[in-house]
Amino acid sequence: MKVFKFGGASVKDAEAVKNITKILANFENEKIVVVVSAMGKMTNALELVINSYFNKDGNAIKHLEEVKLFHKKIMNELFSSKSHPVFDEVNNHFVEIEWVLEEEAAKGYAFAYDQIVSTGELISTRIISAYLRQAGINNTWLDARDIIQTDNNYREGEVNWAVTTARSQEIIPSLFKDPCNVVVTQGFIASTSENYTTTLGREGSDYTAAILAYCLNADGVFIWKDVPGVLNADPKFYKDAQKIERMSYHDAIELAYFGASVIHPKTIKPLENKNITLHVKSFINPDFPGTQIGKDFQTKPLIPSFIFKDNQLLISISAKDFSFIAEENLSGIFGLFASIGVKINLMQNSAISFSVCIDNNPFKAPKLIEALKKDYKILYNENLQLYTVRHYYPSTIEMLTAGKEVLLEQRSRHTAQFVARVIKD
Ligand code: ASP
Ligand code: MG
Repeated sequence: MKVFKFGGASVKDAEAVKNITKILANFENEKIVVVVSAMGKMTNALELVINSYFNKDGNAIKHLEEVKLFHKKIMNELFSSKSHPVFDEVNNHFVEIEWVLEEEAAKGYAFAYDQIVSTGELISTRIISAYLRQAGINNTWLDARDIIQTDNNYREGEVNWAVTTARSQEIIPSLFKDPCNVVVTQGFIASTSENYTTTLGREGSDYTAAILAYCLNADGVFIWKDVPGVLNADPKFYKDAQKIERMSYHDAIELAYFGASVIHPKTIKPLENKNITLHVKSFINPDFPGTQIGKDFQTKPLIPSFIFKDNQLLISISAKDFSFIAEENLSGIFGLFASIGVKINLMQNSAISFSVCIDNNPFKAPKLIEALKKDYKILYNENLQLYTVRHYYPSTIEMLTAGKEVLLEQRSRHTAQFVARVIKD
């Protein structure tokens, strides 16, 4: 059994949906679980709906109409008969959102977010499952919420592995009935033990694929993308980005952790634990080799990989009386970061100060600074960039730092990171 994952870009329009049939045709005799994200930028569009609902700005219905129109256009292009049952199935999901929007939010933002935003995946899989069937690919639509159980930490659910494994093994193999070799399910979404919908964090569909592969002991995960594989840099920022052919789990985890957006950071660990190879491949050129990530794979070619993060905030924390920043302060400081949910991208300490670089999230960063100011003297710099280079050479660093003021720098054997700002003249 193999697990395939199609992200938003690989199902962004009718053409892309049609392309899935071509990819599946190459795997005719295999059992495949197909994990799909919301189409195109629909998760962002549904975030506008939930935000308007929550802020009561009167635009929730208008934003929802945009989501409806987007899907309607794709469905009209895929299904010639307007009485195809998929139109009703999709409409039912919209009706459910409308019910939520009519009520007052009783359980807080994160709960309402998951109930509404999860619809993107429910709808995309309805459309894709129906289209594949119409194209002659027999398949079963599976509600991922019947398989993946999380705790009730909405927007960032923690997987209950025991329940999820038991359900995966009990339910999924029985859905493959000759001639049905394909199961279509949603990435990103799950449910609590009380059957409320949760999500696994933005871009979490890769993680869904890894969870299912782990639970089913799959023999491979394939992530189909609009790039030829894992590149050593984001082609949006570096025009000479090169494809990595093979990569160790370790390198993949480090790159994902430092912010390479090609794979969700939680994806690799479950695969590594069961030694399942991850293939990152182009959905435009499915016959091209892509990148393979696996256990004893030597990363090849071993070239520097660059990760660039914009809009960084560098905070320097020192004691008000200029005493040392010691372990007891640090444990309180880390506690604050954890309770506000701020991830540290880079940190460094000296005798009297502790510096951290974080994403300048407009909700979390001001809250964190306020909380830190109660006990510490705080200085901070905004509008910075964080560069991470894995497998660097001295010349790589020179090239990247040219014309920049470096505020903080850290190098280990394989990874160099620095926080910098562009010098304007
Ligand atoms: N649709 C979700 C998101 O955009 C999950 C995913 O794409 O992986 O965050
Ligand atoms: Mg998405």
